[in-house]
Amino acid sequence: MKKIVVLGGGESGVGTAILAKKNKYEVFVSDKGMIAEKYKKVLLHNDIFFEEGKHTENKLFRADVVMKSPGIPDKVPLVQDLLKKGIPVISEIEFAATFTKAMLIGITGSNGKTTTTMLTNHILKKAEFNVGMAGNIGDSFALQVATENYDKYVLELSSFQLDGIMDFAPHIAVITNISPDHLDRYDYKYENYIDSKFRITKNQTAEDYLIYDADDEAIENWLKNNKTKAQLFPFSLEKSFEKGAYIKDNKIIVNTNSNTFTMSIATLALQGKHNTKNAMASSMVAKLLGVRNNTLRESLEDFDSVEHRLEPVLKINGVQYINDSKATNVNAAYYALDSVRTPIVWIVGGTDKGNDYTDLLPLVREKVKAIVCLGIDNSKIIETFGNIVDFIIETAGAEEAVKVAYKVSEKGDTVLLSPACASFDLFENYEDRGRQFKDAVRQL
Ligand code: ADP
Repeated sequence: MKKIVVLGGGESGVGTAILAKKNKYEVFVSDKGMIAEKYKKVLLHNDIFFEEGKHTENKLFRADVVMKSPGIPDKVPLVQDLLKKGIPVISEIEFAATFTKAMLIGITGSNGKTTTTMLTNHILKKAEFNVGMAGNIGDSFALQVATENYDKYVLELSSFQLDGIMDFAPHIAVITNISPDHLDRYDYKYENYIDSKFRITKNQTAEDYLIYDADDEAIENWLKNNKTKAQLFPFSLEKSFEKGAYIKDNKIIVNTNSNTFTMSIATLALQGKHNTKNAMASSMVAKLLGVRNNTLRESLEDFDSVEHRLEPVLKINGVQYINDSKATNVNAAYYALDSVRTPIVWIVGGTDKGNDYTDLLPLVREKVKAIVCLGIDNSKIIETFGNIVDFIIETAGAEEAVKVAYKVSEKGDTVLLSPACASFDLFENYEDRGRQFKDAVRQL
């Protein structure tokens, strides 16, 4: 009997444990922290052995293979010791993919993964494909492989999931864009993070496709200096292609191997330049899989916005309140500022991940009338924008921030929560921050 050790008893760990057990592995789950009650129940129910609050090394070193949850860095001594002993340490995606014949569509990038994954899933469902969605959304991929019977999966893939692959090869890969993020896990070297994203294409063959943002410098440079066997399908707001997606006369044009799809940008459900890109990426997946133009058009028109991503909350006295709490880096906030209506009262701040705000200066100068800081340490924000925005104030919580924003805004303004930072200083996570913001808006 093959032995698998699962490091981390969260969503992907427990999913992996169940899938492994179903496939006759001897399974042991080990978590250095505490395992949530709901997962413990599942493990007990499935007769899966586990430990919490510690790693018992001699048990772990007996493994034939180790599945490491994405939250555990490669650098930790235990992982290094396992690797030194020659034990393969893989991700849930790698493990689960070996147990399914379904066609895999993998979506990675620094921003826009969730939106593009959900939009692609929506289109393929409308086209009546038997499709599942997994990755960082909902039930883990491993659990779905164990319990469902889908023909296709749309997978949202973080760089951490991709770091742990060996043979995983999606038939269609999408790289939405790349900008510096999570550098603490990549020795503070941007090129390591870029390489990690491109692992999505490393096992692809000439029958597979790679869809990518051709306006993105990091992506273009990587493709110039490295090779992939996949067929390339770029998308761009600036260039045009024989095969790929681009803009002409305010329409998106999608050329794949079959026919051409066109659609007016004004009729897309998701507005903003970044969402036009996401729509182009999803449309190319759809066309490569033969979705009919009418179905694709309808899906792009009727897709609901995604919670915490430029999510319209309420309009009060002519002021539109928008929750973009998921904007946890500068690039995401850039697109938010770029796409919402001016003048903007911008709620920003949180845990700084080494942010460089320089790229935002022109936009802030042009569009932002007031800045409401929502973080414990706001010094960098005040230092960067203090001289160019007339009104800048610090607040200590979502409710206070919303009240201040309400006071300084007037008819025609947009109040935008797009923090450009992580949320862990004042909130549990970005969902908590977004919900507290929405609750405060609703109480105005
Ligand atoms: P991810 O899953 O990669 O974090 P999301 O779809 O959750 O991406 O979006 C995260 C943030 O980035 C949101 O603030 C959203 O408005 C913004 N965003 C979405 N798509 C893009 C894109 N293509 N480029 C830049 N920012 C984007």
